[in-house]
Amino acid sequence: MAAVIQTDILILGAGPAGASLALMLLQRAPALKVCLLDQSTGHGEKPGETLPPQIKDLMGPLGILEAFQREEHLPANGTSACWGSEILVENDYLYRTSAPGWRIDKQRFNRFLAAEAEKRGATLRLGVNAKYLGKTNSQFRFQLQQENDLVTFIEAAFVVDASGRKAGFATRMGAQKVRYDRLTSIWRNFRLKESCSDKSTLVESCKYGWWYSTLLSENKLVVAFMTDSDLLPEYKRLEPAWHDWLDAAPYTKQRLDHSVAVGDLEMLPAASQRLDTLFGEGWIAVGDAAATFDPLSSQGVFKAMKSGIFGAYAALDYRSGKPGALEKYGRIVQSEFEQYLEIREQFYQQEQRWPESAFWKRRRHQITLDPVSVLYAVKEPIGKNTNARQLLSWKEVDAILSICNTPCLAKDVVAAFRQNYFGYKKDRNIILGLQFLLEENLLKKVS
Ligand SMILES: Cc1cc2nc3c(=O)[nH]c(=O)nc-3n(C[C@H](O)[C@H](O)[C@H](O)COP(=O)(O)OP(=O)(O)OC[C@H]3O[C@@H](n4cnc5c(N)ncnc54)[C@H](O)[C@@H]3O)c2cc1C
Repeated sequence: MAAVIQTDILILGAGPAGASLALMLLQRAPALKVCLLDQSTGHGEKPGETLPPQIKDLMGPLGILEAFQREEHLPANGTSACWGSEILVENDYLYRTSAPGWRIDKQRFNRFLAAEAEKRGATLRLGVNAKYLGKTNSQFRFQLQQENDLVTFIEAAFVVDASGRKAGFATRMGAQKVRYDRLTSIWRNFRLKESCSDKSTLVESCKYGWWYSTLLSENKLVVAFMTDSDLLPEYKRLEPAWHDWLDAAPYTKQRLDHSVAVGDLEMLPAASQRLDTLFGEGWIAVGDAAATFDPLSSQGVFKAMKSGIFGAYAALDYRSGKPGALEKYGRIVQSEFEQYLEIREQFYQQEQRWPESAFWKRRRHQITLDPVSVLYAVKEPIGKNTNARQLLSWKEVDAILSICNTPCLAKDVVAAFRQNYFGYKKDRNIILGLQFLLEENLLKKVS
């Protein structure tokens, strides 16, 4: 008979969120049985990333700051940005100011965090697929399958979905993903022919999207182009399109003058996204599984680790029977995401150079709605597809439509929506959502 492992908390995904959660759990409750599991072995290629200086504020409480410093990741002294004008501006981080941060090899960084969690007592299983079998007697049961085809089972009282933007377990539990755009990264590594003095991270916007490049070591540069998946050409046209996009970005192009491409172009989803349900009885989603940020923010890893830490507090409170523990966690993630949406918009608003470009047009939202216009919901709308989904989940759209079942002033719709439904939502995001619903005739104005 196959073995059954019993654990208190099972974490699906050993990325920054899952590993931080394991570290904090075991810091707080060293006797807890924690299993940290990842389907990947942690050795494939990932694009390099930049960590903001504030990451130190999380490494300290997790008890791994010194060990992290010994890893000797390269320092990152802010970002050079050509954004909103042709002039290259050397600034600190796009989102916050202080320096230096780090340029990391993402796989090495992930392996480091997972190994630290293992040292603290977590059972670490890499290269394992977990198939959810169901829940009996408050225990979640999974079948684990490894490369050697060895099958075991695991049972846990509490499950954390830290599986990144796939959020496989949370969606299995009924959560739905709310996508706010279709951003995709097309990236490739380059080898520099000679050592490079320019060590900054470079962000450069162009008509078709924006470029990101950063030096990962003395001679390795990672270069990524960010655009929307529906604006991409068919796969065989990708390589020529890459050169067209590069021609539109002189600073990035110049950076590649003395380098050779290594390997093929790779694609990764990079859309802003969140789950409409962040927790349920005995489970939560953390990190990118809960909410993902635009790579422009360079906040993804920071946010993932922070939500892992908060997730650990929530799981411990839940286990000790504290009422509302998971709800509180959910509210924190939601309001943080709302704030992020606002900041993301401010940054995209700064680029006004290509009014006709499809990529920029859809990121240029202006508030035009008169707060005293009277809105009502169209009884039988033709279809229900709406760009309001860039800012609202289906549940939120439905709440607005039900408020507007009787004619209502726009400002009162916003107030009722926040008061009766989703208090965490920012006014600006609700108003922009209303504008989309009006444009698409799901709402009408009383004339
Ligand atoms: C192109 C691009 C550039 C970026 N640049 C930056 C940057 O410069 N700075 C920054 O801070 N952030 C950046 N980010 C964001 C950052 O990578 C993520 O926000 C961060 O890694 C999220 O951590 P996580 O632990 O939530 O998820 P992930 O890092 O995605 O980890 C999830 C883990 O779960 C595993 N997994 C998946 N499914 C399962 C399953 N069913 N069972 C078990 N394991 C599973 C995966 O193998 C993976 O190891 C970038 C993202 C992209 C796409």
